[in-house]
Amino acid sequence: MKFDQKVLVNKPKSYQPKKNEDEKIMAKDAKEIKTKKTAKSEEKLWWVDSKGKRIDGRGLNDLRNIKIQAGVLPNADGSCYLEWGQNKVLVSVNGPREVLPKHQANPYKAIVRYTYRMAAFSVTERKNPRPGRRETEISKVSGEALEKAIFLERFPNTAIDIFVEVLDANAGTRIACLTAAAVAVADAGIPMRDMVSGITVGRADGKWIVDLNKHEEDAPDAVDMAVAFLPNTKDVTLLQMDGEITPEDFAALMKTAAENVEKVYELQKKALKESFENKKPEMVPGMEDFMNSTPHAEHEEHGERVSLKAKDPLSFDASDYDANENTELEENPDAEHEAFDGGKE
Ligand code: UDP
Repeated sequence: MKFDQKVLVNKPKSYQPKKNEDEKIMAKDAKEIKTKKTAKSEEKLWWVDSKGKRIDGRGLNDLRNIKIQAGVLPNADGSCYLEWGQNKVLVSVNGPREVLPKHQANPYKAIVRYTYRMAAFSVTERKNPRPGRRETEISKVSGEALEKAIFLERFPNTAIDIFVEVLDANAGTRIACLTAAAVAVADAGIPMRDMVSGITVGRADGKWIVDLNKHEEDAPDAVDMAVAFLPNTKDVTLLQMDGEITPEDFAALMKTAAENVEKVYELQKKALKESFENKKPEMVPGMEDFMNSTPHAEHEEHGERVSLKAKDPLSFDASDYDANENTELEENPDAEHEAFDGGKE
């Protein structure tokens, strides 16, 4: 290869562009940045129009379309597929089952292991498939939010594993996942005090709105609050917020959330009802007749005749499980020992 000696000789040892060249480059860059910024702000000029309509056509308190289907994965103990606007999530529940590694087991109650993951293809810019801090945080708070609804003390030394996959995301995925996970836990037949239902509320462009989409979450004055309730008692089991608001606005937002979460709860109940109606128990020949025959179709419970046919899982009464649970032990504290000794002295 030939070197152009002339160029090499003439070029100063450490080449520095002249000052006016630098200035030109900087001015060009600044112009480009300004043009981009203007284009971006023009593109997202409004969030709520003068008639109170949002950019996707919803009113201020309208939720996006929600579709919930329980019992979609035959290999899982419980499962749920949920679409919430563009969000699509899939949940599988396994358990209560043996805890591995064993040192994680709690001798007093079941542990809940909630794993939230976003698929690499779930967002426009590829998401790194390695679990990040955001996913670890969402898994932790969502697992704790579900724990409050489950009778964990009935299953000591076991684990309830909940795996949540976000397949498509457009804001509010943690709430969509938690809502679906609660349905999947119920679908697994795990006894619960109540459902867990979630919603997001907040502010965009100075307006208080329900169920923010990604565009609204990115508004300059955005407040984005994710809340989950036990819908029958309105106990709050999850509360996270981005943005700044006054205590009065916060109280008003919580009220809006509690009112609107009812819509989510109704859809969860509907999904579970449909799933249980579709489940046909596999019966051995003659079993159906046996279950329906009068002498065996009932048994005695607290002095009342009770049908052995499956109870409606949604007509759940928490008092069934609380006070009456250990009546025998309270009346006769030795009953437990007798049971172990086979009644021996
Ligand atoms: N998002 C993204 N990449 C990520 C994480 C989030 O594009 O790695 C998007 C996604 O649409 C998500 C939204 O940002 O729904 C808001 O994320 P946030 O952390 O507020 O949680 P979310 O509102 O989904 O519960």
